[in-house]
Amino acid sequence: MTGKKKTRNVVWIIVAVLVLGVLGGFGIKAYKDYQKEEARKKEAARIKKLQEQAKLNKDQISIEIRGTYNLKLNGAEGRVTWSSANGAIARVDEKGVVTGVSEGNTVVTATYLKKKYPVKVTVTMPRVMQDDGKKVVYLTFDDGPSPKTAQVLDILKNNGVHATFFVTGMDLKSADLMKRAVDEGNAVGAHTYTHDYKYVYSSENNYFDDLNKILKHIKDVTGKETKIIRFPGGSSNTISRKYSQGIMTKLTQEVLAKGYQYYDWNLSSGDAEWPAPSVESIVHQATNTKQTKVVLLMHDTNAKQTTVDALPQIIKFYKDNGYEFRTLDNSDIISHHHINN
Ligand SMILES: [Zn+2]
Repeated sequence: MTGKKKTRNVVWIIVAVLVLGVLGGFGIKAYKDYQKEEARKKEAARIKKLQEQAKLNKDQISIEIRGTYNLKLNGAEGRVTWSSANGAIARVDEKGVVTGVSEGNTVVTATYLKKKYPVKVTVTMPRVMQDDGKKVVYLTFDDGPSPKTAQVLDILKNNGVHATFFVTGMDLKSADLMKRAVDEGNAVGAHTYTHDYKYVYSSENNYFDDLNKILKHIKDVTGKETKIIRFPGGSSNTISRKYSQGIMTKLTQEVLAKGYQYYDWNLSSGDAEWPAPSVESIVHQATNTKQTKVVLLMHDTNAKQTTVDALPQIIKFYKDNGYEFRTLDNSDIISHHHINN
């Protein structure tokens, strides 16, 4: 062979190898794609079968506020995640346990292998709130603890009754009285750490920073967690409009969605006035009711001596009129004001 011919042959061989290589490559790729597609179809069929096997134990439930129902996605073999469309109406935990928060309708959804399984949830008022005629009074004290709290606790103890304290971090020297209150069977709830309207109602972040601070403070001092809240000024306050439009609407929904319950009052002792009203005035306002469920607002800051002095008469009135004294931490009574901001 001549040198030229040799070179030509080599070129042809190289071209042939390249062509075969490319074709072979395509062939392998096509085969791999085919395999992949088959595997994908098989996997999709497997997932579809699993999804079809999974069945909700209920596709519609009705529970009371604070009532629970355990939803299950029977037949599910892998991870199921649960979510609620409106946590202010019903919450759901990672095991599918639904808890009623406030009256209304919402949807709880199980998600399994990317498929959604919706459940209609209706939350109704607890039976106890549909007036059962039973008389119950909830004595509540805001803005403490303070040195006056010790006197309040003495009076409660002497009368064998309990109250609910919505506390702040304003008087840290008196903080131990929160522990005494809990140890003696009273309930402690969060009012806010600072009680500074301007701060807590300026933003949701501020409110929750403050709330977390008071909740931690309560836990640190009493050893117990609390889930009950009272908003400064009540949920119906209008002062918050000055700092953030619509904030009470958001906060009331968010605290419920986070698993807290907030309590307003349906009777005020009027003791928030300045200067402090007389004992007679406080007793009159605190007992001027025919309601069967009374959530009574009082204050136990250091300035409220007349409240302390009025308390024995207030307790006597409710005892004489056949009321049972209860605390709000495990109560079915939910006293919510109308939201005005
Ligand atoms: Zn207050």
